[in-house]
Amino acid sequence: MPLYEFRCPEGTRFEASFSMSQAPQVLDCPSCGQESRRRISAPKLSISGSAEFKLIDSTKRSAHEPEVVSSRLPAGGKAQPSRYTHNPLHQKLPRP
Ligand SMILES: [Zn+2]
Repeated sequence: MPLYEFRCPEGTRFEASFSMSQAPQVLDCPSCGQESRRRISAPKLSISGSAEFKLIDSTKRSAHEPEVVSSRLPAGGKAQPSRYTHNPLHQKLPRP
């Protein structure tokens, strides 16, 4: 459902979602309770699922839920250092 933008006489802007056939011209302001007129603004259609939405969502989520390792690797796991390359020709290259 599209989002509609409203603005109360005191200047508070808020958004509400209605179906296109049920969108009211006025709505009570959530902060002061006065009648707020619907504003004409750019349509804010659903962007969920798009790359833009995923980027915004992960950015907002990382503010309070950073994607970091929360525990150490279990001991006795992979002890071998990982190789950077698997190309056998790179084995012949001089080492530092
Ligand atoms: Zn208000």
